[in-house]
Amino acid sequence: MSAIASNLQAVRTRIADAAKAAGRSPESVSLLAVSKTWPLGHVLEAVAAGQVAFGENYVQEGVEKAEASAGHSLIWHFIGPLQSNKTRPVAEHFAWVHSIERLKIAERLSAQRPDHLPPLQVCVQVNVSGEASKSGCAPDEALELCRALAALPRLRLRGLMAIPEPSDDPAAQRAPFRQLRELFEHIRASGLPLDTLSMGMSHDLEAAVAEGATIVRIGTAIFGERHYA
Ligand SMILES: *Cc1c(COP(=O)(O)O)cnc(C)c1O
Repeated sequence: MSAIASNLQAVRTRIADAAKAAGRSPESVSLLAVSKTWPLGHVLEAVAAGQVAFGENYVQEGVEKAEASAGHSLIWHFIGPLQSNKTRPVAEHFAWVHSIERLKIAERLSAQRPDHLPPLQVCVQVNVSGEASKSGCAPDEALELCRALAALPRLRLRGLMAIPEPSDDPAAQRAPFRQLRELFEHIRASGLPLDTLSMGMSHDLEAAVAEGATIVRIGTAIFGERHYA
C-alpha cells in the first residue's frame, strides 16, 4: 500500500473513532483531502485509494489540477482566501467554495457560474474567537451574509467554515468549534436550511467531530508536511 493510501486509511479510522465517541455515525462526516502544494501524482494516489473530494487554497494551482484530472470526476473545493479579481476561474472549475467572507465575492461567483454547471455550493467563513488567519466575517455578521447569499441564483448556501488557532489542549480546541456550531444552529433556527459545518484539520479533527463537523479538511495527515517554495 502507498504511504498516501495508508495515511488515508488512518485518517478515516480517526474520523470514525471520533464520530463513534460522539455518538454520531461515521458517514455523517466527510473527508476533504487538502492537496495544496502537492503535485497531481499525489492526488491520483489518493484517488486510487478511493478519495474523491479535494481542497485547494490557491486559484491557479487548483485550476491546473482540476483541469489535469478532468477524466476522474473529482469534486474540487476552494478553501483559501479569494480576491475579487480571481473569482471567475473558481466559479468555472470548483464545485464548492468554503471561504466566502463578503457579499461582493459571492455576487461575482454567482454571476460568473457557468449555466451548464450546477449551482456553486458555498460556506461562509467565520472568524470565531482565536482565529489563526484574520479572514472570515465577524460572528455577528454571519446571519445577514447568509441571508444575502441564499438569495443569489447560482449559489447554494450549505453552511459555515472556520480555521481556529492551533492548540494542543483538547478543551481549548473544542471551544471555537462549539462557537461555530452554536452560530450554525442559530442561523438554522432563523430559517436558513444549512447542513454543513466545515471545521477540523489534521491536528484537531477529533475536537471538530465532537462538536458536529460534517466536513473535515485534512492535508498533512494524508500527504505529509508541506514545504513552501
Ligand atoms: C491547509 C489547510 C487545511 C489542511 O490543514 P492540515 O493541517 O495540513 O490538515 C485545511 N483547511 C484550510 C483552510 C487550509 O488552508
